Amino acid sequence: MRVIPLGGLHEIGKNTCVFEYGDDLMLVDAGLAFPDDGMHGVNVVMPDTTYLRDNQNRIRGLIVTHGHEDHIGGISHHLKHFNIPVIYGPPLAMSMLQGKMEDAGVNNCTTIQTITPREVVKVGQHFSVEYIRNTHSISDSFSLAITTPVGVVIFTGDFKFDHTPPDGEHFDIQRVAHYGEKGVLCLFSDSTNAEVPGFTPSERAVFPNLDRHIASAAGRVIVTTFASSTHRVAMLIELAMKNGRKVGLLGRSMLNVVAKAREIGYLRCPDDLFVPIKQIRDLPDRETLLLMTGSQGEPMAALSRISRGEHQHVQVKTTDKIIFSASPIPGNTISVVNTIDSLMKLGAQVVYGKSEGIHVSGHGCQEDQKLMLALTKPKFFVPVHGEHRMLMCHSKSAQSMGVPADNILILENGDVVQLTPDSISKGESVTAGIELLDASREGIVDNRVLKERQQLAEDGVVTVLAAISTDGLMVAPPRVNLRGVVTSVDAKNMSIWTEREIGWVLENRWKQFARQIGGSSVEVDWMGLQREVEVGLARRMRRELQVEPLILCLVQPAPGGTPAYKGRSDLEPDSKPITRRVDVSAQGRGNSESSSPIKVSRTSPAPEAVSKSTVVKSEKVESQQEVLGGRTRRRRSAVAS
Ligand SMILES: [Zn+2]
Ligand SMILES: [Zn+2]
Repeated sequence: MRVIPLGGLHEIGKNTCVFEYGDDLMLVDAGLAFPDDGMHGVNVVMPDTTYLRDNQNRIRGLIVTHGHEDHIGGISHHLKHFNIPVIYGPPLAMSMLQGKMEDAGVNNCTTIQTITPREVVKVGQHFSVEYIRNTHSISDSFSLAITTPVGVVIFTGDFKFDHTPPDGEHFDIQRVAHYGEKGVLCLFSDSTNAEVPGFTPSERAVFPNLDRHIASAAGRVIVTTFASSTHRVAMLIELAMKNGRKVGLLGRSMLNVVAKAREIGYLRCPDDLFVPIKQIRDLPDRETLLLMTGSQGEPMAALSRISRGEHQHVQVKTTDKIIFSASPIPGNTISVVNTIDSLMKLGAQVVYGKSEGIHVSGHGCQEDQKLMLALTKPKFFVPVHGEHRMLMCHSKSAQSMGVPADNILILENGDVVQLTPDSISKGESVTAGIELLDASREGIVDNRVLKERQQLAEDGVVTVLAAISTDGLMVAPPRVNLRGVVTSVDAKNMSIWTEREIGWVLENRWKQFARQIGGSSVEVDWMGLQREVEVGLARRMRRELQVEPLILCLVQPAPGGTPAYKGRSDLEPDSKPITRRVDVSAQGRGNSESSSPIKVSRTSPAPEAVSKSTVVKSEKVESQQEVLGGRTRRRRSAVAS
């Protein structure tokens, strides 16, 4: 049997795991991740699915453990690219998935089967999977016992041992122990909190603290948490009722999750508990509780907009108490503290941080993880769902309990685990990596585009417009534009440099790009010429100015016989240092276009040159749009016409 994690290792997110035996391929979870700071304009990160696309005729089904984005967020995207005949999962996750699939227009692409606890589903000829209820921060979370031809694999999914879950649905520990008793070949276990000693407290532990804060509030209470932490949401709704407050929900995912959870009976509360946000102003402050998204400082979420004073219906009052019932995911810390600062500046009382006891993790710590190892007594062990150091810590815990180091594998995404009844080994890896999607969730942002965006963000862009005749002569001084470039060289010198670079290319490389095609007609590879100038200028700027802006060169072709522009090669670029100057046009204002006397001479090009130049322009404009996104469209006329 082969097990291939395509995501979820060396990161938190996009959990996607493949089980293979014979001709059967079974998927376990298919999640997404969120972008790092450097991924400009990227909205979601998906695992590279080359392997699944190549093997799609062998995919027998997908097993979903629970409804978190890092486990189901990739599914609607995948369904557009390969076939998954059937998806199994618990009611809440399937109901959330259905909503996503409708949004993406793929609801008819597969069959959805809702499972019940201890239900066994058969996937292909070789896998049967038993759903074992576990406890986590969302209702309806499951571990899996996967019976395969080589033995039983326990796949924990996300879990902690919570003995007082708010929904009263207990971890089916007996069933896990049952498999441990029979013999477990391999355990794949959640490593998120492997670095944290002790047990994770029960979700219920935050209840009295939240109660205290809500009961003592004199004005409105505003609470933010993850919409998908359904246990927390349920407790907050219970506390609102207990304290005589009506609830206003803000944020799309919050409204969604509450609606789904009520629909399937997981959240029981009267309809009149909820007040539409437009009418929230009519309620007395002491009877209002607002529950909203934005606990991670996401710029477009409800609380972030409120903190900037940009929300249509809710403005912060000095009597408001705002509770952050979540801890920032690493990477979001800065945006979270910024949001807290803004809210405090508006005069609200903000309750946040570990010492308040208003948040607990949904993942087990070291002792929970050890308990799982003790219950399953696996022969082999693979820590998953975590960054490298977490996997290493989890491996140490297993070794401390007697699992031999040789029986533990630390994997990378795309690694292949080969399991037999008495061995575990790594096979040859398969293609794995990331696919970055933009806001539309359609457009794939490839590495080249990402690199260009980073370059734009860090070093700006230089555009060069050059008029060159089909004789290989510059017929007007080049026009140079800097945007977001910080340099000690002024615009005049920059244009002299550029002129020289173009002159050099025309003198030394022209033959490479121009081809005589009968008589006096010349065919010119303008794109190639542009690239040559771009590369030369980039090299020069890197070497002499230590900056690496993106360079875009655009050639406006002129017909043969156009009088050549004499150039200013007699001029020496100023060598004396000029004070370092920040180009403010990076913010979209100002213009550091090189100073006079630069004007492109508008010669009327010969008919053939017209068509060529059109081609050149449109290709270039396209690639610019790709690079700069929407902003280029506005500049198009300025640059290319
Ligand atoms: Zn989870
Ligand atoms: Zn997870």
